[in-house]
Amino acid sequence: MNYLSTRGRTAPVGFSEAVLMGLATDGGLLLPETVPEASPETLRAWRRLSYTELALEILALFADDIPRRELDRLVRRSYATFDTPEITPVVPVGDFFVLELFHGPTLAFKDVALQFLGNLFEWLLGQRGERMNILGATSGDTGSAAIYGVRGKENIRIFILHPHGRVSPVQALQMTTVPEDNVFNIAIRGTFDDGQAIIKSIFEDLAFKERYRLGAVNSINWTRVAAQVVYYVYAALRLQEREGADRVHFAVPTGNFGDIFAGYLARRLAGAAIGTLVLATNENNILTRFVNEGRYVRGTVVPTISPSMDIQVASNFERYLYYLLDEDPERVTEAMARFAQSGELRVGFRAQARVREDFVSASVGEAETLETIRRVYEAHGYLLDPHSAVGVAAAAKCRGELPPGPLVCLATAHPAKFPDAVRRATGRDPQRPPALRGLEDRPTRCEVLPADEQVIRDFIARHAAV
Ligand SMILES: *Cc1c(COP(=O)(O)O)cnc(C)c1O
Repeated sequence: MNYLSTRGRTAPVGFSEAVLMGLATDGGLLLPETVPEASPETLRAWRRLSYTELALEILALFADDIPRRELDRLVRRSYATFDTPEITPVVPVGDFFVLELFHGPTLAFKDVALQFLGNLFEWLLGQRGERMNILGATSGDTGSAAIYGVRGKENIRIFILHPHGRVSPVQALQMTTVPEDNVFNIAIRGTFDDGQAIIKSIFEDLAFKERYRLGAVNSINWTRVAAQVVYYVYAALRLQEREGADRVHFAVPTGNFGDIFAGYLARRLAGAAIGTLVLATNENNILTRFVNEGRYVRGTVVPTISPSMDIQVASNFERYLYYLLDEDPERVTEAMARFAQSGELRVGFRAQARVREDFVSASVGEAETLETIRRVYEAHGYLLDPHSAVGVAAAAKCRGELPPGPLVCLATAHPAKFPDAVRRATGRDPQRPPALRGLEDRPTRCEVLPADEQVIRDFIARHAAV
């Protein structure tokens, strides 16, 4: 399978090359040349598979330059770190279902992709006798999931910037208590945006990037999307089997559009099993306005109680836009240039109709989010984290637009990661799962540095593997 850039100016590459490339060299995002489609017979056969077996089948469609036995080993290793053999359990809660995506080591859905990506990087680099220094900025969840994905890996070092004193205490401890010496936490005296800007500027220095073999783990990496396709198909097939359902609908708490884009691909892959996708946003609702009005307009980020969704410009949106603009890289390039200049992007009438076939969407405020956590807890004894609650609340708002069929709400984080919001909503503290117990007693490793690009560069140059 070849991978092409949404901007059309990168020569086609194979899967392994696409993984190592991250962002396409022309500034676009990589996509498979064709989206595979599973026949009804294949889908029926897949119903009998465990999560890891299904992951192997689906990833093999995309990662066709990796020997199947090796891919099998990588998949098994990646999901052995999850705390349940079901990996992503589908749990009935009242009249809907929750797809629990938080059973990985850092208790957020990003583990599903980053555990796999870490093992894949290690194997690919080992094959080529190469090394990589991963560099990233985080506002919380991505950093810890990326660190847990590559901790202790021989040919990889990882440098993660987080804003000093501005991530939740649990999130900071998750990152800084990792003892392996290939992990470098840098707390910058500044904001997340400062960190992001420093990283971006360093990546744009191609000589530095080449010299230190810098790699990225943010959600523009194709592997992250591919690995997330699996749980949509898994949940839909489980419910077809258990409930005799026809098509299954999904509500997706959305920030960077990575997770719901995986849902869109899952529907193209397994269209007979997957119905409507509910795109759920918090007050940062640029994508909801896009779905409902056809205009994509940049605003300013509002901090909320679901911080992992506090994003204005969604990095994966360009991938969807590519399909919306009839897979025409010239039109994508033009649209992105116009957006960069004016902060606004409009699509025509026909494209807008297509968007409304692909998604329904609602935006959810803080009071509704807290009320949803409280209501679901009181009615069903089930505790949602604030991100997952945004999804549940948005689905309730869109219920009238959904055809009949079971509704699955994605639970993207464990409630114990966001105890303050849960306490405000329910008056009780969520119970800490084993992964978070005793965190405060462990030694921490973290370098506090000024938000100064040169200082960060010097630090990387001193500690990078070359
Ligand atoms: C990252 C994240 C999201 C948003 O996912 P996107 O792929 O960025 O849309 C939602 N919830 C949680 C808990 C997250 O960590």
